[in-house]
Amino acid sequence: MFLDLHRHLEGSHSPRALARVAREADLRTPFFFDAARGQFRSPEELATALTMAGPSDDASVFYRCIVLARQAYVSVEAIRTLAVAAFEEAAAETDGFELRISLFSMTRTLIENQGLEWRDVPPRAFSERYARPVLQAVLSARDEVHRRAAKPMVVRLGLSRTFESVPHYEAMGDVVLEHARELVGLDVLGIVPPPDTEPMPGALVALLARLRPSLPDLTVHAGEFAGHSSVDRVLELEPRGIGHGVRSLESPATLERLARDGVTLEVCPTSNRLLIPSALASLRAAHAGLEPLPALQRAHVHCVLGSDDPTPMGTSFPQELEVARSLGVDLSRLEADMKRRWREMTGVTL
Ligand SMILES: [Zn+2]
Repeated sequence: MFLDLHRHLEGSHSPRALARVAREADLRTPFFFDAARGQFRSPEELATALTMAGPSDDASVFYRCIVLARQAYVSVEAIRTLAVAAFEEAAAETDGFELRISLFSMTRTLIENQGLEWRDVPPRAFSERYARPVLQAVLSARDEVHRRAAKPMVVRLGLSRTFESVPHYEAMGDVVLEHARELVGLDVLGIVPPPDTEPMPGALVALLARLRPSLPDLTVHAGEFAGHSSVDRVLELEPRGIGHGVRSLESPATLERLARDGVTLEVCPTSNRLLIPSALASLRAAHAGLEPLPALQRAHVHCVLGSDDPTPMGTSFPQELEVARSLGVDLSRLEADMKRRWREMTGVTL
């Protein structure tokens, strides 16, 4: 039984689902609609722009794909349709999964796509008129698909470290608390421009402290674009998982601490290959050619596998499992770590 334990909703909108929503919402932007031919673009045409052509250390190549897909967030109904498709597709290719949502960026995008400036929307209206319906749409999509697919599926709430407005995040936090029982935990995601690409802003740490009594299971993206010290810093918050975290391999002390504290790394091989090719090459060189996942297993660090953002990365969970197999990963140990992590997150033994 293999679970996808690092997967983002915003990176899980397939070209097929996006083409369908564009048609249904009559979304005639140049990306979705070919005015010269007077017709909507096919999923095959959309796929080229939605998927990275190859590895790049420049994260904006990846974000461009995400921004294109987000053009379809034109209404709560459109978001719900996309979410249903994303849950269905994840259920079809896994034995169970966690999907994480970046509620702030989804909400902001919805507001912008409706022709408004999100900063002009007061925090309370931002959270009640927009963020709450978006969250409810995603959760009801999960429930609908779960009734049909009957596979384990949970939703994690992601908070971006770009943290653009404290009052808006605070108001959104109230909504998150009211839906805490329907969520599995919290995630911190996103990178910012150098020098510190994976910071933990003080106001974000304070918000986490307010939310964690209700949502104790924390994961943080770290040790991907920034080095092992970003993981060391985050460990002070006692997360249960680190998104990526592969650059922990730069420091024996960090590896030891992860192993000792039982913190799980969520490793996404294709994501690393595409987004951090230079860092990956250095890690490989320092570990006798071993890829991060087998090297981390060798260091006794608990690891699970994720597809991260299947659409921009042109991958799927079965493909990631195949990659793991080809890298010499101990699959029975990987499976045991996935079940261990699921138990930790949900209290359920699979
Ligand atoms: Zn991620």
